[in-house]
Amino acid sequence: MTYQKIEKSTVSLDGTDLSLWKDENGDRFLSYSGNSMELRDQINPGIFALSSSNAALLREKFTWLNPQPLGLQTSAGTGDRLGLATSGHILAFEGSGIAPVFAQQSVRENIRTHRTPQQVMDDAMWGIFEMGWKLPWGADGDHLKNSEDIKSFVDAGYTFFTIDPGAYVCNVDPESSEAKLKESLKEFDFEAFQISLESLLISYNTTKIPVENIHCSDYDVLTALIKYGKAILHVKEMYSDVSQRMASKPFDFEVSVDETDWPTSVFEHFFIANEMSRLGIQWTSLAPRFIGRFEKGVDYIGELCRFETEYKNHAAIQKYFGNYKISLHSGSDKFSIYRICAINSDYKIHLKTAGTSYLEALRVLAATEPKLFREIYAFSRKQYEIDKVSYHVSAEFAKMRAPEDLSDDQLPDLLNDFHARQALHVCFGSVLDHFGKEFLVILKKNRDLYDAQIKTHFDRHLADFIH
Ligand SMILES: [Zn+2]
Repeated sequence: MTYQKIEKSTVSLDGTDLSLWKDENGDRFLSYSGNSMELRDQINPGIFALSSSNAALLREKFTWLNPQPLGLQTSAGTGDRLGLATSGHILAFEGSGIAPVFAQQSVRENIRTHRTPQQVMDDAMWGIFEMGWKLPWGADGDHLKNSEDIKSFVDAGYTFFTIDPGAYVCNVDPESSEAKLKESLKEFDFEAFQISLESLLISYNTTKIPVENIHCSDYDVLTALIKYGKAILHVKEMYSDVSQRMASKPFDFEVSVDETDWPTSVFEHFFIANEMSRLGIQWTSLAPRFIGRFEKGVDYIGELCRFETEYKNHAAIQKYFGNYKISLHSGSDKFSIYRICAINSDYKIHLKTAGTSYLEALRVLAATEPKLFREIYAFSRKQYEIDKVSYHVSAEFAKMRAPEDLSDDQLPDLLNDFHARQALHVCFGSVLDHFGKEFLVILKKNRDLYDAQIKTHFDRHLADFIH
């Protein structure tokens, strides 16, 4: 076995040089040269392993290996289901001026990939170490639903917490009478909401919504309160939970209502922001659900003019409050709307992508190991109907080409096909359970190709956000 030093990883501390090395299989190792015994003694007995304890030691010695809050900077989250994409992401972020969130996984994704918040953090950190990235970066615990979720991410050093109060959002029958709406608020905890219904309605009677043609009647306020009131109370609780756990350390706080069954109206956006403000919640970013369809792994589906008009109204609300970013969830591959969002939000925007880097890994596989890719595709195609539950997708099995009809040369093209792409996107958990080991072996061997593809893919994602 021959080993090659990755030059740009080299750092010095007290006379010791530390570097990452790679072998022919693409595996990485930590090595040192020089004469400081201090560091040598501390590196774990499994001297060369990229172990969690070695990661912790490096984080302690080198501050830039720790994530930090990014505030209102234009930012993008990369998501990395396989833990091998950070080096490629860095190639794209370098020189872009966009702040990266290299560690970002949702609880749901961690369950499906059998990874812990700490592993996700460590994988991202090794990529950062390898590439010699020394600028700020973030770590996002995504779609956190309860205090337990929060704890595991705080313990692993995350600095960005995305709260998803979706379970507390309630549907409202649009035919309900005002009396019926009031009736259904009987159980609502106005004490925790720190205002009576009467005072709340009065406050909106005298509020001018900063968007033309958006008014709020008592009926609108009642509807918004029923839909989002409990969710806001849950966010408030989660906000104190994070604040308490983080003690005096600063953090980014995101609220996401993107996985609701209906789009967030402009007034509802106003209502959520206004009430969160009133309750003393300080948030960095908010993810409304926009009109049209934000499906996994594919471009925006919907009328662009309508989207633009609606987005401008949301941006007006954002500017009125002035202190947060709009977060675009399921944000990967939405090339047709990036410019609209970036410009109208004055670049106060966070782009969140999750699975698109995994799809690029499959593209590497399709090009280098067609046999395995073909099996994975056939498997995903069969598994799709089961695994698509809980995702916004509309691919149809009937429109996915049968693997036996495709030559090896045609396989990479499946990654550009709407239907195949969505099936491959949502079946990752089952695929990794069945093929994970072989898949990772191939990917590690082809790391340079993977890095290059991730760079190309993310260059496209970031282009409209550079200013
Ligand atoms: Zn989301």
